[in-house]
Amino acid sequence: MSDHSSLHLLIGGEKLSGGSRDTQDVIDPATAEVLGSLPHATTDDLDTALANADRGFHAWRKESADKRAAALNKAAQLIRERAKDIGMLLTREQGKPIKEAIGEVIYCAMLFEFYAGEAKRTYGRSLVRPEGQSARVIYVPVGPVAGFAAWNFPAINVARKIGGAIAAGCSVIVKPSEETPAAGLALVQCLLDGGVPGDVCQVVFGVPDEVSRHLLGSPIIRKVTFTGSSAVGKHLVKLAADDLKVTTMELGGHAPVMVFKDSDVEKVLDTMVGAKYRNAGQVCVSPTRFLIEEDIFPAFRDGFVERAKAIKVGNGTEDGTQMGPMANERGPQGLAKKIADAKDKGGKLETGGDRIGNQGFFFEPTVLSEVPTNAEIMNEEPFGPVAIVNPMANADAMIEEANRLPYGLAAYAWTNDPKLRGRLAADVEAGMLAINGANVSAPDAPFGGVKWSGFGREDGAEGVMHCMVPKTIHES
Ligand code: NAD
Repeated sequence: MSDHSSLHLLIGGEKLSGGSRDTQDVIDPATAEVLGSLPHATTDDLDTALANADRGFHAWRKESADKRAAALNKAAQLIRERAKDIGMLLTREQGKPIKEAIGEVIYCAMLFEFYAGEAKRTYGRSLVRPEGQSARVIYVPVGPVAGFAAWNFPAINVARKIGGAIAAGCSVIVKPSEETPAAGLALVQCLLDGGVPGDVCQVVFGVPDEVSRHLLGSPIIRKVTFTGSSAVGKHLVKLAADDLKVTTMELGGHAPVMVFKDSDVEKVLDTMVGAKYRNAGQVCVSPTRFLIEEDIFPAFRDGFVERAKAIKVGNGTEDGTQMGPMANERGPQGLAKKIADAKDKGGKLETGGDRIGNQGFFFEPTVLSEVPTNAEIMNEEPFGPVAIVNPMANADAMIEEANRLPYGLAAYAWTNDPKLRGRLAADVEAGMLAINGANVSAPDAPFGGVKWSGFGREDGAEGVMHCMVPKTIHES
């Protein structure tokens, strides 16, 4: 398995680096030291990848579903065998605690196993016609896919771009984040070692806007899938529109957490504080706006602050670390500005609010309370270790606030009232709603959002079907 000392492109199964290619440093966010040097694809490299993807697609789409499933299952087995090593690469380049990193890698194996099963279940249907005629709907792969993944989940984001496409019979060119390249490369290597041809799954790196413009400018690419900010997602959808390519967008969020007064406050805190600071809050479904019914607000706020203060922050490679550094320099800088703005607008800083130390990109687990809705942080994804805890009058006010923003990815609610649970399921504008829990992601469950959080779905049967198009055959 390659590591940070031998970073490369993967084009047509070949590991390419050196030559006239530009390079960029990959940084360890815990120390700000250089881990390795990443080659950028030249335009010739990208053109070769496109030609390969075209050829690879026409062969892969004709393979049996059994063969595609076998390759995904074999890749999953290799991922499980290599999980500790891939996890360590991931922690070094992204920062999260090693236990979280290994968990992320194992999730990729689970996802490929699920998709292996789904590859065999892309059923069509027969339509009723008079005797002597027939009509049937079959599902065919959409074509070569270009996938762009963000740095917050270097393995899962890449696996989500690839898994459904490979299962459906598409070829895929994926660009993991240049800031976290090694985990994605290791994952794709498992697919190639598992039997996926080198022209069916390829990896490129470069200046993101240049790579996406080049790939989206080619008629070979028929689908674009992206995980990242809503701003970049809108830009890519506009580029894709020029050639009417299919798009799947997994974009930002600003998840509300509605805690009603019939909840067990200690249980909510035990679950949601860990969920908030997981991956230092750099999670698109991170619980962010805690909307607490007034009667339980003081106990909830105080319990949250107490737990946030107890979190052990450190290098993700060390045992016992509960929260690592933020993944890049932009993280602490952006967060500090948003916290200052929240204080200016009248929000209270309950704990945290500053960088830790002078090495790497560490930030204190932070709690703000009673933050007004005109503060930047109440409107823009903070993407960091900060919780906003606000008192709310009643269910009407909580649902109104939950739906106020243009985002709609994940939402969370805590109540045992069955009538209220039904109302939340109907009225909360989100792609995923967790009631009395923190988990919104599972291999068999569609993952994605509404409004500015995007469209299309990854994971679940939908993750494969969104890489396919229906074709109707009429016979007389
Ligand atoms: P960004 O929005 O520029 O980049 C996000 C990701 O998109 C990066 O991995 C980047 O390589 C990629 N990207 C950027 N421009 C691209 C382009 N033209 N074509 C293809 N890929 C492109 O900025 P950022 O500083 O990395 O993140 C800013 C904010 O984005 C974060 O604070 C967060 O709010 C949001 N974000 C969301 C997610 C998510 O999972 N929803 C992931 C990462 C970032």
